[in-house]
Amino acid sequence: MRLILLGPPGSGKGTQAQRLVHRHGIVQLSTGEMLRAAAAAGTPVGLQAKEIMANGGLVPDEIVVGIIADRIEEPDAKKGFILDGFPRTVPQAEALDELLRKKHLKLDAVVELRVNESALLARVEKRAEETRARGEEVRLDDTPEVLTRRLAQYRSLTEPLIHYYSERRKLLTVDGMMTIEHVTREINRILTALGALEPKEHEEPKSASKASKTAKKTATKATRKAAESASKAAKPARKAAKGASKPASKVKAAKKAAKKTAKQPAKKTVKKAAKQAARTANARKGAKAAKKAAKRLTKKRAKR
Ligand code: AMP
Repeated sequence: MRLILLGPPGSGKGTQAQRLVHRHGIVQLSTGEMLRAAAAAGTPVGLQAKEIMANGGLVPDEIVVGIIADRIEEPDAKKGFILDGFPRTVPQAEALDELLRKKHLKLDAVVELRVNESALLARVEKRAEETRARGEEVRLDDTPEVLTRRLAQYRSLTEPLIHYYSERRKLLTVDGMMTIEHVTREINRILTALGALEPKEHEEPKSASKASKTAKKTATKATRKAAESASKAAKPARKAAKGASKPASKVKAAKKAAKKTAKQPAKKTVKKAAKQAARTANARKGAKAAKKAAKRLTKKRAKR
């Protein structure tokens, strides 16, 4: 499945992309995340982008197109991807069409998350608050002033994509003012109707992406450790259950409960570790794609 999530800043593209990734085992390609990773790595493109992003501007088309062109070549993107924050301009959309055409790949759909602008400031402020609460660095562009500029950019440069994709019969609009859960359900419903998804709601993805496989591997160690300590913690409970003068069925039930307690924290730790590892792997790939795109651009400029 190849999908584009379209919507203004704060419309929930990132959140919904992550949910789709989790459910379908395909990768999320967020140009914003990749540029932030490149900025954190201190690459020339990253540093150039950092300033543009902090001011609410758009990074030049040729840079982001180059990043995406490299990133979709990676093996983990072969089964499909969700583009989050790309394309943002008509020239980017045209470049993407050309890229996909050359690779004989089809875009399944463009999902537009439609939201009231008046709700966006509160959402972005909430995102900044939650980031702060997690002890992470708040995005430089999550401020009211920069948001105003980003919204203006969205209206003038990105909104024309609604017409672009609707003309190509790719556009599907979802009410982004519903709860996160409802929006996810609605996206899944329309993708299933389109035939882009299997209509099995509760099934795990058949084939996990390479990123999530790597994540699982990384998580195995943490699992074992967590399982060990959880098992240790549950030992007294198991002992108590064993020695208690209760009917056999009750002892059995207590044992089962103790076992369950031992498993739970381990499960959570695995999930968390797997998610973190997948995010790190994705960010690393994004920064690598940004570096490659920068090199190619320098060569091209030198030739001119
Ligand atoms: P996002 O994380 O999608 O909100 O993007 C954060 C910032 O990264 C944007 O405000 C832009 O400065 C930059 N950016 C991300 N994607 C693109 C893109 N496709 N084209 C140009 N700039 C982008």
